[in-house]
Amino acid sequence: MSHSPFLDLKSINAAYRDELIEVCTRVIDSGWYILGEEVASFEKEFSDYCGAEHCIGVANGLDALTIVIRAWKELGLLASGDEIIVPANTYIASILAISENSLTPVLVEPSLETYNINPEHIKEAITSRTRAILPVHLYGRLAEMPAIMAIAKKYDLLVLEDCAQAHGASLNGQKAGNWGDAAGFSFYPGKNLGALGDAGAITTNNTELAKLLRTLSNYGSQQKYKNDYKGVNSRLDELQAAILRVKLRHLNAEISARRHVADSYLNGIQNSLISLPSRPPLKQHVWHLFVIRCQQRELLQKHLAENGIQAMIHYPIPPHHQQAYKEFKEYSFPITEQIHKQILSLPMGPTLSENQVASVIAACNSFNDSD
Ligand SMILES: *Cc1c(COP(=O)(O)O)cnc(C)c1O
Repeated sequence: MSHSPFLDLKSINAAYRDELIEVCTRVIDSGWYILGEEVASFEKEFSDYCGAEHCIGVANGLDALTIVIRAWKELGLLASGDEIIVPANTYIASILAISENSLTPVLVEPSLETYNINPEHIKEAITSRTRAILPVHLYGRLAEMPAIMAIAKKYDLLVLEDCAQAHGASLNGQKAGNWGDAAGFSFYPGKNLGALGDAGAITTNNTELAKLLRTLSNYGSQQKYKNDYKGVNSRLDELQAAILRVKLRHLNAEISARRHVADSYLNGIQNSLISLPSRPPLKQHVWHLFVIRCQQRELLQKHLAENGIQAMIHYPIPPHHQQAYKEFKEYSFPITEQIHKQILSLPMGPTLSENQVASVIAACNSFNDSD
């Protein structure tokens, strides 16, 4: 039996150990640790990767989203109490970025087919206070951006992409982070492009916005000790930027490895009790997570565990059932609730071996009701 951890970060980073040590040494010896050449170089390399004009490094993915909304408030494009449309089944951070800015998150059901926000339901949720859409490329699959951008254009709404799970996903040659007015990325260690600690970035093609984002994230200051805004301290460290530069060079190879695992699962798992994720055009999905659905989810998770396979749930409680958002507890989102009850994430990562993949497939296929 081949043991399969859900995500083996140690083996992912071990592959680059020598390169990582080399760049860490370079930063240590430079004597410069905040906002220096590593951050500037990473910002250039990552904006090139995404095809976006600007990249601003920040401390984490939540800050990336929060600071964009804050900047739009400073520019007078948003005001407290305005509504932002966001998928009901997202990770809590997408929603926190909205409420943190005293705006109202309007939760919208995803499609069961893609797990991403359903453009049809976006239209129904638009009111006179709606100012923006925050689509999330959940699990690594680019949301239906052509339809979402068409709605945004028609109703004059801003679009903030949550790309925390989708570095490198693309549709019609256009990458995540280069569709909306701005985008937030996370480089949390478990993300597809992961630092060795917290890190994040914003991309945008708007030069005025980029300048303001840079200022807001550095104490609202453009010139040391002169503060133009009540800003925050949310900067990307030199050390993390240097590490991310190494890992960015390997990102496409890692995405290919993830696609290979996904392909094997899609071809190999055949069990009427398990619903597989739909297969989108190749480049649209970077398979941050491989999420299946099963009505007997707890039994399946236990069966996999007995076979040495660690499967996890992303996410066990929908945002509208969280204590933190008790104001939403009367809301009903049947598709979101069904998703949260039935989903299970299989092991996924660039270092899973053929043996591990085969054992996951075998264990899924041997699951039955009487387990
Ligand atoms: C991870 C994640 C975030 C937040 O990123 P952090 O770096 O952990 O702050 C935001 N949105 C989604 C969808 C995420 O998965």
